[in-house]
Amino acid sequence: MNTLQVPLVDLKAQYAPLRQEILSSVTKALDSMHLFGGPNVAAFEQEFADLCNVGYCVGVGNGTDAIHLALRAAGVGSNYGDEVITVSHSFIATTEGIWQAGARPVFVDIDQHTYTMDVSQVEDKITPRTKAIVVVHIHGQMADMTTLRLIANRHGLVLIEDAAQAHGATYDGKVAGSVGDLACFSFYPSKNLGAYGDAGAVVTNNPELAARLRRLRDHGSKSKYEHQELGFNSRLDEVQAAIMRVKVPYLHSWNKARQELAARYTGLLQDRGVVTPFVSPRASAIYHHYAVTTPQRDALKNWLQERGIGAAIHYPVPIHLTEAAAAFGEGRGSLPVTEQYTASTLSLPIYAEMTHEQLTYVTEMVHQFNAVYGEAASRKELAAVN
Ligand SMILES: *Cc1c(COP(=O)(O)O)cnc(C)c1O
Repeated sequence: MNTLQVPLVDLKAQYAPLRQEILSSVTKALDSMHLFGGPNVAAFEQEFADLCNVGYCVGVGNGTDAIHLALRAAGVGSNYGDEVITVSHSFIATTEGIWQAGARPVFVDIDQHTYTMDVSQVEDKITPRTKAIVVVHIHGQMADMTTLRLIANRHGLVLIEDAAQAHGATYDGKVAGSVGDLACFSFYPSKNLGAYGDAGAVVTNNPELAARLRRLRDHGSKSKYEHQELGFNSRLDEVQAAIMRVKVPYLHSWNKARQELAARYTGLLQDRGVVTPFVSPRASAIYHHYAVTTPQRDALKNWLQERGIGAAIHYPVPIHLTEAAAAFGEGRGSLPVTEQYTASTLSLPIYAEMTHEQLTYVTEMVHQFNAVYGEAASRKELAAVN
């Protein structure tokens, strides 16, 4: 029995050194009893807008609402049949936000190297009803935003980034959130920048969109009881903002630690029965997940879990094949790269506080698996050939 445990993420390890700072920030917020619309939210919004190199940040209740409200603010979904081009390889929230806005998701496949949106297929999916593109920076790697920006401009589409996994990532030197007309962030506790509850934000350079988002998140009101339109209740609260204000200054060093861990993983896992993640040379990924692929994914996952390693699948079913969203898709076989990736992807533990000992242990367990199963698999292949 080994004693080493390596969870997929370790929120306690991040909290421990920040505990005093966070408790004093939260205590100040609670002592003031200014729980909504106070100084912490305003300051956090400014700090996060700066981090994303944009003019405006509007805090909302969570990342799913961020997608929903960003589309609403841009008027997408207000006409029956509005279509939004997106990917099926994501957390289901991406499609939920589109559906909540009243639009119809139209899925494109992913690139077979980066597993982000295959931008070469986007124009084939554009119809007279297409209003927007919601692109996902999956696992912390930005999609080809330079090409998507050109496509969106050429066809008059709203370009929205689902950057829930990409706080601080870049593409062609531009930081996540700064290329789309709007970008949506989640601060769910396990994200690279996490609150201690639900929280999210939309960022934009457009002052009208920002103003509309501020109304939509708060019952459509311009000021208290002055309701300009019907809206929603989806505010970021002062306590979550007080917590995140402590964390914002650490984000870059945490992302850097993840990048170093990812580089170590990739070095130690080369030619060991798994395919390590490919990052475009134009991108700087922040490794929200470190996802490898292998045809023996399920066996490897069980092998690692039995050895105290929190390996997980992101995501076990592509959105277009879920029971919930099947009606929007074109069924099995319609997105071959997505479907193949879903069947072979496995996320290994990664978080800024992960030790070298933990990482080495994970890679050794992968090597051991490969020694046992890799050989069995090649024997099977040989038998099949003979
Ligand atoms: C986490 C996540 C969301 C949703 O965020 P919540 O805050 O949980 O609502 C949306 N899209 C992606 C890609 C995510 O990873």
